[in-house]
Formats: sequence, structure tokens, C-alpha cells
Amino acid sequence: QPVLAVVGRPNVGKSTLVNRILGRREAVVQDVPGVTRDRVAYDAQWAGRRFTVVDTGGWEPSATGLQGSVAAQAELAMSTADAVLVVVDASVGATATDEAVAKVLRRSKRPVLLAANKVDDERLLADAASLWNLGLGEPYPVSALHGRSSGDLLDVIVGVLPEAPRGDRLGTGPRRVALVGKPNVGKSSLLNKLSGEERSVVDSVAGTTVDPVDSLVELDGQTWRFVDTAGLRKRVQTSSGAEYYASLRTKTAIDASEVAIVLLDAAEPLAEQDLRVLTMVVEAGRACVLAFNKWDLVDEERRYQMVRELERGLVRVPWAEKVNISALTGRSVRKLAPALRTALASWDKRVPTGQLNGWLADLIAATPPPVRGGKQPKVLFATQAGIRPPTLVLFTTGFLEAGYRRFIERKFRERFGFEGSPVRINVRVRE
Ligand code: GDP
Repeated sequence: QPVLAVVGRPNVGKSTLVNRILGRREAVVQDVPGVTRDRVAYDAQWAGRRFTVVDTGGWEPSATGLQGSVAAQAELAMSTADAVLVVVDASVGATATDEAVAKVLRRSKRPVLLAANKVDDERLLADAASLWNLGLGEPYPVSALHGRSSGDLLDVIVGVLPEAPRGDRLGTGPRRVALVGKPNVGKSSLLNKLSGEERSVVDSVAGTTVDPVDSLVELDGQTWRFVDTAGLRKRVQTSSGAEYYASLRTKTAIDASEVAIVLLDAAEPLAEQDLRVLTMVVEAGRACVLAFNKWDLVDEERRYQMVRELERGLVRVPWAEKVNISALTGRSVRKLAPALRTALASWDKRVPTGQLNGWLADLIAATPPPVRGGKQPKVLFATQAGIRPPTLVLFTTGFLEAGYRRFIERKFRERFGFEGSPVRINVRVRE
């Protein structure tokens, strides 16, 4: 979701205004200079639009004096946020610090909005108008304390923020499942087992239109759309290029799905082809259930082998949901639906910005990012920018090494779950 950064010198009523924007759903600490806050970013919603509000007061001021530190905040805000709201105290007028901030913000390529705060009644409107001099466009008069005109300001804010990326919206209808795996792993057998007796029931679901290449399957009281299953039913044996077409079909199915069941042959060692399929799922950002099929053939010795094999083979997907099944005997096949639901719940999940930043601040205080080129990169704040798959954006002052990003992902999963879903972590470094 888009990010709005709020900047301004202390005591202009920044925190009160942030509270207004949040609808007072979250308490923000008083605007005391030098006070460290563990949270700087919050979720806001207005007119059906969701966005993140970042209170730059939480970014510790540098030792370069007030004017320098507020200007530095403005600089950071400009390079990290999608829009900047600068707050000025209209009852005081523009101070030298405000001028310094304005000078920085006039260079901004992103939209900048000017809030003239403490306009508690009509007589102060003239004071607000004098702030045109800052060269930041129209001053929007507000009274954060009394709530005056804050709705108008919010209308303008959501007007300048970029639209949230599409694909975020929850789809309707049955969830889409790809059933993939190398040839002969048991895909057709499983699909037949799953659809078996239930098919007649499923075909008569009212109001559902079935793409002929998909199959609707009822599992555990819920209807699922197994995508692109036509190729599974009619086995086409083409001698040349068979593998190419199989791989293309796998890719198409994964792209059309929300969650993939990756079928593995438990009786055989993990193959190169299995890993290729897994990589496709992870790169497409789909939720994932690993189903170890042919479990009826697994004996004590094989089971022992497997543990060690999987430790090495599945390092990329330690988070995947796992079930052991037999498409032949039907063993544990009913465990698939709960696993699919868990994976999809993670795929759909959003961690509120406040919670995310509270956790992140503690994590970084305990284990700061490694120093690079003599500099300590600072992580300013984070927001979960998207779902499906869950995507975090970390706003930083420097590059974060891959190892440290993996560390953050591991800790993030320990704290918030996300079993069965890939998680993406993007880093936005200020220029
Ligand atoms: P596909 O190519 O992935 O669709 O695989 P098939 O469903 O055609 O299965 C390939 C072979 O494996 C067939 O001979 C199946 O009977 C056999 N098979 C599938 N699932 C199981 C299972 O759970 N246990 C055993 N023992 N054999 C299975």
C-alpha cells in the first residue's frame, strides 16, 4: 500500500494530526523532541483507500541541530514515501526551520502537501494563506486538535497517493489449485481419487461456470477449482518434445493458480525435475503444499533416507505445508484440504503496520544490519505492501545483504507464521 510521510518541526502538532488521520485508532506518543519511539508507521484508511502513515518524528534527529535534522527528515521522507505531508504551525507562521524544510521539499518529484495547522477558527485563515510563501503550493488549513477540515485534507491525500497495486483484492469463487509434479508421480490418480464419487455433486453447483480445462472438486465441504487439468485426463503421448510440453503445462497451471500442490514421489529420491517445479511455484509467488505420494510404498528404511534427503533438497521451501498421502489407497488424502486452507490463509494474510514495526524495531536493536563500506545501514520502517504473496518493503538508508534479508525473513516467519506461503522482502534504499 502507498506510503505518506509526515514531516515538520517539533510542536507544530504533527502527532495530533497523525492521530486525526488515523481516526485515533492508534495512540501516538506526544511530539517531544529527542524521544525515541518504537513505532513510526501506522495503517490508515480513508474513503475506502488504505495507506501507511509514517511519522518521521520517530527517525532519531541527528546531532546537526534542529534545522538540520528536520531537513534530513524531509530528505528521507522524499526519497522513501509516495507523498509527503509537511505540517506548519499557522499561528506562528513560517520559521527558519520551516523554510529549510520547504527548500528541500521543493525539489521533490513526489507530491508534497502543505498542512497549515492550528487554524482553530476562521480568523486564522489569513495566517494560513501567508504560507503560500513557502513555495509548496496551496496551504490546507486544518485544526488537528479540533478536527477542523481534516476530512478535506484526507480527501486531498488519497487523491495524490498512487493506487494500490491490483491483484490485492480477494477473488471470489472457488480457490484455484494447480496440481503439478513430474510425470508418473500420480497426478491423474490423485485427481481421480479426489473427484471420484463427488463429481456429480460438484457439477451441479449453482451459478458456477466451469472452464472446460478446469475441474471443480469438492473437498472437506469446500469447492476448489483445479486449474488446467484437461491434460491430466487425456494422456497425450507425443514422442518428441513431450518434456517441453509437460513443463509448459506446469507453468501455465501454476500461473493460473493461487496455491499449488506439488506432488513428489516418496518412494524415490528427490529429482532435478521436482526441484524445477518447486522453483516455478516459488518464483510465481504461489502458496505451496508438498504432497509426498505413494506413501504406501515407503518402508522404515526409506523413511530414514528421506529425512536427510529433504533437509538438503527442500532448503528453499522450509515453510511449505507437507502431507504424506497415497493416491492409490486414499490414505491421508483428506489432509490436503486443511493444508491448502492453511497455505492460502498465509498467502492472504496482512500484518498491520504498527505491529510489524514494533517487532522490527526490537529485532534490529538486538541484531543490527552488518556494516558495509564502513557504514551502518539503518532500517527506518517497514510496511507490508501487498498480499498474494505477502510482500514486505523495508525502507533503509543502505543496502542490506542477502544474508541479513534471509535473517529478517526467518524471524518474521517465527513471529507471524505464514506457513505455506512464500514471503517477499523488498528493500527500498534512499538515493
Ligand atoms: P501422472 O503422470 O503424474 O498423472 O501419474 P499417474 O497418476 O498416471 O500415475 C503413474 C503411476 O503411479 C500409475 O501406475 C499409478 O497407478 C501409480 N500411482 C499413483 N499414485 C500412487 C500411489 O499412491 N501409490 C502407488 N503405489 N502407486 C501410485
